[in-house]
Amino acid sequence: MDFLKPRLIPMNRRRRIYEGKAKVLYEGPEPGTLIQHFKDDATAFNAKKHQIIDGKGVLNNRISEFIFQQLNNIGVPTHFIRRLNMREQLIREVEIVPLEVVVRNVAAGSLSQRLGIEEGTQLPRSIIEFYYKNDALNDPMVSEEHITAFGWASPQEIDDIMALAIRVNDFLTGLFLGVGIRLVDFKMECGRLWENDMVRIVVADEISPDSCRLWDIKSNDKLDKDRFRRDMGGLVEAYSEVARRLGILQPEEAPRAGGPKLVQ
Ligand code: UDP
Repeated sequence: MDFLKPRLIPMNRRRRIYEGKAKVLYEGPEPGTLIQHFKDDATAFNAKKHQIIDGKGVLNNRISEFIFQQLNNIGVPTHFIRRLNMREQLIREVEIVPLEVVVRNVAAGSLSQRLGIEEGTQLPRSIIEFYYKNDALNDPMVSEEHITAFGWASPQEIDDIMALAIRVNDFLTGLFLGVGIRLVDFKMECGRLWENDMVRIVVADEISPDSCRLWDIKSNDKLDKDRFRRDMGGLVEAYSEVARRLGILQPEEAPRAGGPKLVQ
């Protein structure tokens, strides 16, 4: 019955499928699965700014695991199967839709810059934006017209993506509000998951302080990647604070004592 045992492939002999700025994808133990590995690399401004930040990958792996597991639990389909170790999670192989889906609740970042709206202004309603994933073009913002005309997603898929984005936003807004954090905006990615002859849209990639803007409700302190983009320092401490509030990290644990210690 050897064929029933999962194939354990030594780290150095695993086939690397894709390497991005902050993550690596390896082939998984079974067909249709991949291993998503979180690196400590932080990049911004289309990788013009780059730094290794000890412990970031471990924290993002855990925070993203927590969020994706909860999304699975409430029936929002995701690529996430389970966490494997401190830096890796087992995921379903999907075909990534080449769009970054940004949901905004409060004005910040590029929205504030482009439209001259002061950072921190509550938006009249949540706004969904699409950016075409293309580093050479600097991820330009695109409309539904561009997306359907160039075949990046069908009108039905755009509807599905927007419905997922709204559910994820509602869930995350409540989750973070409950621990004293304002969800200003976030980016998510979607993938096509084949199951027999059916294909459906699921949430993919990661959701972590690297891809969200998270402000402390009382102090407005930034608990996200803007600490790196804006040279504020204290990124691991901020991500650790998010993990602690979500109950992932023990309350008394110091963030940098030999790397973050995480609750199993
Ligand atoms: N974002 C991201 N990856 C990107 C661009 C944006 O995760 O390549 C996230 C970012 O962290 C923020 C939201 O999407 O939570 C909106 O980002 P914005 O358009 O304001 O761009 P930025 O100011 O980060 O350039």
